[in-house]
Amino acid sequence: MDSILIYAQARAEGLSISIAEGGKLVVAGEPKLYKKWIPLIKASKESIIEYILLFNERSFSQAPKTRFLLDLMNLGISQKHAFAIENRVRRKKLDFDDRKLCYECSNLKGAPGRWKCDNPIAADIISDSRDNALGDLLIMLHRCSGFRGN
Ligand code: SF4
Repeated sequence: MDSILIYAQARAEGLSISIAEGGKLVVAGEPKLYKKWIPLIKASKESIIEYILLFNERSFSQAPKTRFLLDLMNLGISQKHAFAIENRVRRKKLDFDDRKLCYECSNLKGAPGRWKCDNPIAADIISDSRDNALGDLLIMLHRCSGFRGN
């Protein structure tokens, strides 16, 4: 399963996933949910952290470069991958990359496996299934005229 889907589905079911001060990935929620999702979250930890840093907790990346890298490596992320994450976070800010994911939009409705757009006309969604299903668009960065921040 795609790491962004793991992150989104686990959160949709009620788990809280965040990065605490000092860079620790914190997962909390009902024991049953925790037990179900923690192996998948652990297996995709690096990608989930990257996603959170890029889209949900940009202020975390305001830390000086060295501390940011050390925080990432303290999470068990390899030096090579930490440099790559740091570079992407900085580049995104420098490039003023304004692309979004549907996960960041309040028009995203539905549930895992059946996500759909609640604003298909403004978003210019053409769906074969006639239910505004998002398909691959769900995990693609894009610019959307129907986007509405949460
Ligand atoms: S409005 Fe755009 S960004 Fe929002 S859910 Fe629909 S397609 Fe995704």
